[in-house]
Amino acid sequence: MKFFIIETRGKLVNYKEFEKIDFNQITDNMVSLLGKLYPICRSITGNGLRDTLKIISDIIPLKISEIPTGTDVFDWKIPQEWNIQDAYIKNKKGEKIVDFQKSNLHILNYSRPINKIINYDELKSHIFTDKNNPKNIPYRTSYYNKNWGFCMSEEQFRNLPKEDYEVVINSTLDDGSLTYGEYFIKGQKEDEILISTYVCHPSLCNDNLSGVILSVYLANVLKKISNKYSIRFLFAPETIGAIAWLKNNEKNLDKIKGGLVATCVGDSGKISYKKTRIGNTEIDRIVKYVLDNSTNEFKINEFSPIGSDERQFCSPGFNLPIGSLTRSPPGSKKFKEYHSSSDNLSFIKKESLKDSFEKYLEIITVFEENGKFENLNPKCEPFLSKRSLYREIGGQNNDNHDRIMEFARKWVLSLSDGETSVLEIANKSKIAFKDIKNAVNSLVNVNLLKEVE
Ligand code: ZN
Repeated sequence: MKFFIIETRGKLVNYKEFEKIDFNQITDNMVSLLGKLYPICRSITGNGLRDTLKIISDIIPLKISEIPTGTDVFDWKIPQEWNIQDAYIKNKKGEKIVDFQKSNLHILNYSRPINKIINYDELKSHIFTDKNNPKNIPYRTSYYNKNWGFCMSEEQFRNLPKEDYEVVINSTLDDGSLTYGEYFIKGQKEDEILISTYVCHPSLCNDNLSGVILSVYLANVLKKISNKYSIRFLFAPETIGAIAWLKNNEKNLDKIKGGLVATCVGDSGKISYKKTRIGNTEIDRIVKYVLDNSTNEFKINEFSPIGSDERQFCSPGFNLPIGSLTRSPPGSKKFKEYHSSSDNLSFIKKESLKDSFEKYLEIITVFEENGKFENLNPKCEPFLSKRSLYREIGGQNNDNHDRIMEFARKWVLSLSDGETSVLEIANKSKIAFKDIKNAVNSLVNVNLLKEVE
């Protein structure tokens, strides 16, 4: 049920800075960054990952951590570092029929080096295709089983003559390190909001470069706004990177009051929210509020351990209040381009990216503006007229804005018992969050209300 649609995007709350935000310009900036990051061959370690973090650092300077090969991180070990210069398959005529330089998806990610002539049958056991998606090159990895291989479209594979082939993979697997980057915006509180995205996929746009570019520009906007909460952005390789980060930050995790895993935010599908494992935390309530009050279709799903780094953040030993806001979730039936060469630059829709960005910003802003307050004059209603907080003329109709604000102040004074949040008051009163928050601010200004920690 929609009672108060947010009339103007970005005016959900009180930040004056919202008026200055040019969402179209930000969308153009995101798309331009996408173009720079797309060609890079990333993995869970290596120079592609480092180059990506370096490009991001030109916009928001990241604190980089390197975790050496062999380091134990909970039940896992940081693997050897993988780097690749070139790879190809040549046919009998010496023609390159598969070329890493044309698409880095052609290589089984983490392939060990190889350089030899092999027959068709041996080649076949190292070729990966997707029969359900016969025109596309699939994205495949082999991080923890030493293997080598090539990915190609099923159509190309079907037409390969049964002859000898030269296979060359010029890669290295050596002791090195795993890299992740963080951007931290210090707020008034030590309590943190965590926005996490993974940076290990090669040339794939929606999964996950869309989450990367959104996080970069979200940080770039939020750094200019004074924040109540501290906000941490994490750019780490999926799974092993999140595990390593959790291991290194275990002592500080109780500071995290809410967060989101950002991925798959650029396709034309409707917005989809996966709840935290706890299921009814503040971030869950805020996302629901923002989506309920938007004009777009959306879907809210219960937590599941199938997905991205929420699997680690919400594992039972941590159970952090972290959900995931996507469009078509990774691996979902509607996202048939998932992990294939069709998840390319043209798959990303500017309007979707812009809408996702606005949703993230609205959610963080409501998180920032939410809070619990205590009525300092709880015995009967305070006399608002002497404080110029009551309308001068009685009897006006109910859709008048002054009247809405009068109702808002009544709701705030009635429910501000130190336990009920601004968001709960907005939900109970059916008055827009920003009006309730304005009412709160006006009552704080005349010392009728104070925030409780
Ligand atoms: Zn993926």
